[in-house]
Amino acid sequence: MPIQLLPTQLANQIAAGEVVERPASVIKELVENSLDAGATDIVVDIEKGGSRRMLIRDNGKGIPQEELTLALSRHATSKISSLDDLEAIMSLGFRGEALASISSVSRLRLVSRTAEQESAFSAFCEGRDMAVVVEPSAHPIGTSVDVEDLFFNTPARRKFLRTDKTEFGHIEEVVRRIALAYPNVSFRLNHNGQSVRHYPALREQADPLTRIGRIVGKRFAEEAIYLEQSYGDLKLYGWLSPPDVCRHQNDVQYFYVNDRMMRDRLLNHAVRQAYGEQLPEDRQPSFVLYFTLPARDVDVNVHPAKHEVRFHQSRQVHDFVFTTLRDALAQYAGEAPDMAHE
Ligand code: ADP
Ligand code: MG
Repeated sequence: MPIQLLPTQLANQIAAGEVVERPASVIKELVENSLDAGATDIVVDIEKGGSRRMLIRDNGKGIPQEELTLALSRHATSKISSLDDLEAIMSLGFRGEALASISSVSRLRLVSRTAEQESAFSAFCEGRDMAVVVEPSAHPIGTSVDVEDLFFNTPARRKFLRTDKTEFGHIEEVVRRIALAYPNVSFRLNHNGQSVRHYPALREQADPLTRIGRIVGKRFAEEAIYLEQSYGDLKLYGWLSPPDVCRHQNDVQYFYVNDRMMRDRLLNHAVRQAYGEQLPEDRQPSFVLYFTLPARDVDVNVHPAKHEVRFHQSRQVHDFVFTTLRDALAQYAGEAPDMAHE
């Protein structure tokens, strides 16, 4: 075969392979878009574990009518325009791939209205041919993205979908993760017409731990140790479980770097090391930790799904996290009545 440029559709489907693994990955991308648009109220409606339908509604700033088609094309983004922007990225998205990828493997409708517009417009795009149809529609200020029949045109991928229950479980986890990082945003999650989760926005003066307890469980909230520390531009705060109540499950392990949840080996290692021998090997610490540092000191463009980061000063980050947690645990041990000395 001679070298040829791939048709847009196929190129987008290949890219979708990296970003859109399952319904939960669609929810992650779309909810992140809503947050980038400044939404404070996000509603997620799921049918049949997401394989039948996923509808995300937000009250963000909306997409202007003339940009609807562009929003669906690959490498089209309003979030960066230069390498400089990328190096100091503050938004969750920047690759301009999510909508193009998702729409290439589903039937996608975008309905949006900005504050400047009198009325809303919708853009519809059905997997097989990427022609976008834009027409007038009804919608309050904000955006809805309606994704139907995920993977209808990529049967090999559709086959990998698990039961509705399993897929919905992954969606719940994505919503939990994101809700923990955005206390001032209200999240609602419905499945097959039933309300399943509602995390209202944190009211001013309210205790953040109440909302965290609602998301990850009351028990964690009741037992958790609070910590807060900064060193130069590095700042860490959050909650972690005392060693004596650590369980076998690792289901409450949330580490945020500049408001993005990460599964990072370096950070996990620092946490584990801080517990040291207080934690039997078969036990898992629970934690909800927020770490911030200047955007320029961390590279988020390592993986399309952005689960991993690269710290420019990784040793320093590791040691800062380790000593902060170790000191917090030591202080807790000192304050708690110590059986051995009684
Ligand atoms: P990225 O988020 O990397 O920019 P996407 O494909 O996810 O790429 O989105 C493309 C563009 O569409 C965004 O840059 C943004 O301008 C617009 N957009 C997508 N979703 C929303 C939304 N919910 N509200 C407002 N604008 C949106
Ligand atoms: Mg995006």
